[in-house]
This record gives sequence, C-alpha cells and structure tokens, in this order.
Amino acid sequence: MNMTIPGARVTDVRASLPRHKTLRYGRRKLSDIRSAAIHHSATVSGSPEAFARYHVGTNGWPGIAYHFVIQKDGVIYWCNDPEAISYHVGNSNRHALGICLVGDFRTQKPTTAQLEAANRLIQHLQVQIPSMKQVLGHQEYPGYAWKNCPAFPMGKFRLDYSQYLQKPVDKADKPQQAPVAISLNGSLLSVTGFLKDGVSMLPVRAVANAAGGKVEWIEQTKDVRVNGKDLTEMVVSGSAYAPARELAAVLALHVEWDGSTNTVGMRRGV
Ligand SMILES: [Zn+2]
Repeated sequence: MNMTIPGARVTDVRASLPRHKTLRYGRRKLSDIRSAAIHHSATVSGSPEAFARYHVGTNGWPGIAYHFVIQKDGVIYWCNDPEAISYHVGNSNRHALGICLVGDFRTQKPTTAQLEAANRLIQHLQVQIPSMKQVLGHQEYPGYAWKNCPAFPMGKFRLDYSQYLQKPVDKADKPQQAPVAISLNGSLLSVTGFLKDGVSMLPVRAVANAAGGKVEWIEQTKDVRVNGKDLTEMVVSGSAYAPARELAAVLALHVEWDGSTNTVGMRRGV
C-alpha cells in the first residue's frame, strides 16, 4: 500500500513496535474495511511504543490496537497493516480501521496539526480503500455509546473533513465542490452544503433538525428519510447530503438561491 501522503509525514513503525511472542492478529481483505474508527489515546501524552507495550504486555493482545497513531505534532505512525483485524471496536473490528489521536480529549483538545493529518490520512486511505466509506467515532459503534471516545464532536469533525475534501491538496487540483451557505427563516445555519454539478447539496440531518423535521436512518437499505419521505441523498464521510429542493419539499419550506453569495435561503411558507 502506498503511504506517501502529500503534505503529511508518515513513519512506518510496523516492524519495530512490540508484538506478542506468539499471537498474531487475523487478516482480512482491504475491501472488508467499511469505516475508519477515530479514537483518542485517553492519555495526556504517549507514543505508539507505549500503547503497543500496554496492549501486548498488559492486555495480552497480538499487537497495538490501532492501525495508525497521530502524534500532537501531526506525525502519522503506521502501526498495523490495514489488513490486520486488530482489537479496537469489539464486534466491529473486522470492518473497521483504527486511527488514534494522542491525547486525552476529555481535558485537552486535539491539535490543528493532528486534525489536519487525520483528514489527509483518511482522504488518502479512502482513495486506496474505496469500501471505507464511513468515518465514525469509537463511541458511534454498536455497543460503545457509553464510551467517551474520541471525546470530541464527530459531527464537526466530519463536517470539517468534508470541507477539507473540497480544498485542493495542491495547486494543480481544482476544487470540485464550492461551499454553500444555508439560511433558514432568515438566520444562517452553522453548517454548510456544497454545489455538485450546479445543484446545492445540503446536510440532511442538520437542516432537518433546524427545521423541526423528523430524520430516520434505514439501516437495511442505508437510506435516509425525512418526515417519512425518501431522498436521493449522497453520503460524504458518514453524513448524508440531499438536493436543496428535495429537502425543502419534504420539510414544506420555500427555497431560493442567491448566486451572488452562494446561499440557499429556506423559509416556512404562508
Ligand atoms: Zn477508542
């Protein structure tokens, strides 16, 4: 796997980290990976070596739990092959790739360098592992609602990340998606959408919640419904986006486009 990431520093420590004398993690195909699981280390400081020593020495695991560890300076440590089914999200291990940001985010904040490195890493991995469509916090996996990990808001992380994806990585790349501001009944929302092929795509959950709509996620079909109606949504890093006109229709809102400010205006009809 090519782990040369533009704008990021990756250190391969797979061969040097402490490992169990005999136990080895099971293996999977890259296409088995469906999500990136974001963790914090829950320690104020730390290193891949220290985590590996703990996971092997104290827990008796085959090796370090995470596939990648990101230090506060933004350096990415490559710890396990993505094919390794390491232990970090219980029953979801087979389909998840673990990324740990060093820090205890109950009392600290991730650094900008860490968040930027995480974004670049995920973006890079999603090109190499197209099945890895979702980006979830540890706490968002089944059975882990009780666990305060990664202890920072994943909704904001995904939004920042999807906006990050809209920025060119270098000058040769043109941005594909222009951000779109959203106003509801005259107030700007804190979330943004984006333009795709001339259509404004808006974040379904945030807009529906702000407008008092009911959002349902249908697990079997991976469909999102608002007020009982199906939308032609697209999922970007785990968040669903739908065309502004469709979303407005199911929320019974009028919609207007202001091309001079790239703003979708939605308001309750009379
Ligand atoms: Zn965790």
